Amino acid sequence: MNVARSIEEARRLRRTMPESVGLVPTMGFLHEGHLALVRRAAAENRSTVVSLFVNPTQFGPAEDYTTYPRDLERDLSLLDAEGVDLVFAPTAEGLYPPGYDSWIDVGELGTRLEGAARPGHFRGVATVVTKLFHIVRPHRAYFGEKDAQQLAVIRKLTDDLDFDIEIVGCPIVRDPDGVAMSSRNTYLSARQRDSATALSRSLTLASDMWRGGERNAAVIRHAMESLLLAEPDTAIDYISIANPDTLLEIPWLDGPALISLAVRVGKTRLIDNTRIPPGFPK
Ligand code: AMP
Repeated sequence: MNVARSIEEARRLRRTMPESVGLVPTMGFLHEGHLALVRRAAAENRSTVVSLFVNPTQFGPAEDYTTYPRDLERDLSLLDAEGVDLVFAPTAEGLYPPGYDSWIDVGELGTRLEGAARPGHFRGVATVVTKLFHIVRPHRAYFGEKDAQQLAVIRKLTDDLDFDIEIVGCPIVRDPDGVAMSSRNTYLSARQRDSATALSRSLTLASDMWRGGERNAAVIRHAMESLLLAEPDTAIDYISIANPDTLLEIPWLDGPALISLAVRVGKTRLIDNTRIPPGFPK
């Protein structure tokens, strides 16, 4: 497995790779959710590239950029075991040298939900993904449905900016207790981990209510809220029941919907989502 720490090295190694090339962008501290993306990329392409980069421009000033978990050695050995061809692990200065000042702004889609809670977040995401697309020139790029809005934003930017890249969305991987895998789960105490199960339980409750015939979004949102707030240490950032394409809130679930939420468990901010009807494609 090759490891490139600079853009030049990544470009040089990319030129030697048999095509097609699949790219999996990550912030590292890998778990089975990431590895599911890697396996899918490896199955669908002749060459697989994984990027490991905690992208400073997608973190707000009060967020966890400096404390975000990192373990390059462990990540490299996991990726080596998966048969990955190239790992691109640039430095922050490498991608954003002094004077760097060009940005990709995804517009309205990036202002809702996570974008409203984390101003500038999607500008940072869209910018780094655009840079990775230019450096790696993949045929396909793999993203998790765990970050549903991010996936929607990346589909939009790929379309709007005419990238000739297939964006592949992959299902959410969960731990046996239902918690969606996330590098940030490592911040949780054992007791907070119990509270964190409320996110997926509230989504299951919403799906069950929908299956039972409930179509009023306010009623479903209220039931989710009660379930979440019954747990110690939880604070709700938002519960959204929205059109999966526009991410605009819908009052009635009479068509496809994306139910998503952001909840703070102690100081840790967690997100999760599900689709109605369950499994409905993006
Ligand atoms: P991150 O390292 O958190 O930026 O995530 C890198 C990629 O892995 C993103 O496309 C995420 O949506 C995806 N991902 C993270 N956690 C999961 C999960 N539990 N299931 C599926 N995909 C995930």
